[in-house]
Amino acid sequence: MKLTNEIVIQKAKAVGFDLVGFAKAETLYKESEHLQQWLDKNFQAGMDYMERNIEKRKDVKQFFPEAKFVISLGLNYYTPDSYSSDDAKGKISRYAWGKDYHLIIWSMLNELELELKKVDPAFKSISYVDTGPVMDKAWAVRAGLGWLGKHTNVINREIGSWFFIANTITNYDFNYSDPIPDFCGTCTACIDACPTNAIVQEYVVDANKCISYLTIENKSEISSEFKGKFDNWLFGCDICQDVCPWNQKFPVETLIKDFHPQNKELTLNEVIEMNEEEFKEKFKISPIKRAKLNGLKRNALHIKFN
Ligand code: SF4
Ligand code: SF4
Repeated sequence: MKLTNEIVIQKAKAVGFDLVGFAKAETLYKESEHLQQWLDKNFQAGMDYMERNIEKRKDVKQFFPEAKFVISLGLNYYTPDSYSSDDAKGKISRYAWGKDYHLIIWSMLNELELELKKVDPAFKSISYVDTGPVMDKAWAVRAGLGWLGKHTNVINREIGSWFFIANTITNYDFNYSDPIPDFCGTCTACIDACPTNAIVQEYVVDANKCISYLTIENKSEISSEFKGKFDNWLFGCDICQDVCPWNQKFPVETLIKDFHPQNKELTLNEVIEMNEEEFKEKFKISPIKRAKLNGLKRNALHIKFN
């Protein structure tokens, strides 16, 4: 039997995805030009991997020659919890409160791909969750999941920006989804609220100044220019998303229990005194392990003494 948009949407929702859209697997000329301009300004900071595989990022046919359509999928991770106002604790970005989303989404993608293959054994696909040479936000926007906000996260009118993106590149023809217009309008709340002025212009974030980069991917010390500016963010930063009116309007709770908070905040002293075994055990299935123990300690010391 032939797959249709309706069948894919029904199967994707049955597996647990909240958003589903379809985009032609065309060359991303405009998006890759923006990426190159961003790289030319060194806004990627220490994320050298962003400089690699530009041609593949631009054209998925470079690594999947049969590509015809990309199915873009969104998974809501919002829960209605908030932080304590205890200064002895450091805040964790919402996306990392629960179980590592890669583990959850990979198993959902495997299940979805099997279901689609059952309908049509000729269906072939390759999927990515923020790894590999795929411009995940660009595909989400092209597939109509939402628009790129001025803070550079994708915003959906129903569930805001608290969702993960996965993309499945397929050898199949579907009907493309209509793109969503940009509803940021004259709002500048995210730009105004960013404590380090990392949103250097609308739709452009300089990672060198972004707390999210500085506390997770960054391998260096944190410069004294950020003294007193971290607002107790220990791993990541959600300020620009917290102030976005689209996240305040319709908070929709995730149906995935594993996204409920296990590590919403951590006591700074506990982090400073933690050893490698404790770190590995505590964050075995948490995205927090990405920062490594040294990175987390560096962040805790920066918050405590600045
Ligand atoms: S994540 Fe934080 S530091 Fe980065 S742009 Fe948003 S508000 Fe600024
Ligand atoms: S805070 Fe305003 S400008 Fe920023 S992403 Fe949200 S709607 Fe757009």
